[in-house]
Amino acid sequence: MLHVRTNPDNSYHVEPVPVFVPMINLKSLSEEDLFEFIKDNGLPQYRAKQLLHRIYEKNVTGINQISEFSRDLRIKLAGQAWISCLDLVTSEKSRDGTVKYLFELEDGERIESVLIPDGQRLTLCISSQAGCAMGCRFCLTGKSGFRRNLKSYEIIDQVLSVNRFISPYKITNIVFMGMGEPLMNLDNVSKAITIINKHVKISRRRITVSTAGVSPGIIDLAQQAPLVNLAVSLNAPDDKTRSLIMPVNMKYGIDKLIQACRNFPLPSRRRITFEYVLIRNLNDSQQHAEAACRILKGIPSKVNLIPFNPVPGIEFKRPDGSKVLAFQRVLLERRITAIIRKSKGADISAACGQLSGK
Ligand code: SAH
Ligand code: SF4
Repeated sequence: MLHVRTNPDNSYHVEPVPVFVPMINLKSLSEEDLFEFIKDNGLPQYRAKQLLHRIYEKNVTGINQISEFSRDLRIKLAGQAWISCLDLVTSEKSRDGTVKYLFELEDGERIESVLIPDGQRLTLCISSQAGCAMGCRFCLTGKSGFRRNLKSYEIIDQVLSVNRFISPYKITNIVFMGMGEPLMNLDNVSKAITIINKHVKISRRRITVSTAGVSPGIIDLAQQAPLVNLAVSLNAPDDKTRSLIMPVNMKYGIDKLIQACRNFPLPSRRRITFEYVLIRNLNDSQQHAEAACRILKGIPSKVNLIPFNPVPGIEFKRPDGSKVLAFQRVLLERRITAIIRKSKGADISAACGQLSGK
């Protein structure tokens, strides 16, 4: 790069200044971009495959760990590129085996991921945003406000980091139910899903994206990340109650939401999960349960009933156990699968709605 400066005598003096070439984080590249990067370096395509294998399957964190590459090649690439990984701030283990990880990102933002072991299944609940803009009244993440979208590699790195911590075991299932609204960051979420599926080798059947009800995003999800599971946080069966606790409902009401669910392409034998946070005297009556059955009629669905988890500064309460059971009974009587979710990790504030990045 040439820097042109005017001298006091008005003649032009041309002075070279160093060119600043930003280092490339290899995890920020899509598969196609990585192949391009390898080609630009005059290397054969199989080198890109080796890189993908080492980064995502072998989970290396430095170019110097790519043992298939000669020393010279490692030095050459390390001059242009690096491999990101997340900084772990703390981790906390619950009495029930749930583990909460607090990560710090490059810019100091903090996010959480929660590992939920259940028999052979190791589910990781991951974040898609730092904070959340949707402002649901019962959720601590919503209360703490929106900070920024996560990059695709920050989403992938949650999975890779936890895989390193639990080695030789590996995450088997992923749910986008941590901090943030995944459909408000769909480009990065779908880019991450593509890599997680193809290179971290987690089947799309084992990946679930949960939304508060950003209806247009539901159809976009089916196109950009086909074959993943959809979960919808329904939480109330009528617009009045839903708008009271979920501001997103004022923009995309229940009719639009249910229509989007009906249009969501479901592979055979798959169902949409509807989450329903039960809040005392707000959405937990028999009438609410009956109304929920009416709107879900004809949709292959499964309802997860989540008794409200206490959140500091939020007044809501959870209903008594008998009320929760009565709500479930109404759904079961109408042949809707309804499961009462135990609040895993509540003793370490890792349960649904308790993540704040602190
Ligand atoms: N933003 C997405 C993904 C986060 S999932 C979504 O809302 O679907 C977080 C889940 O926890 C949602 O189903 C939400 O309804 C539920 N939740 C939030 N706060 C809660 C609380 N205090 N108690 C129980 N569940 C809660
Ligand atoms: Fe955001 Fe989901 Fe919490 Fe609502 S429930 S504030 S959408 S994270």
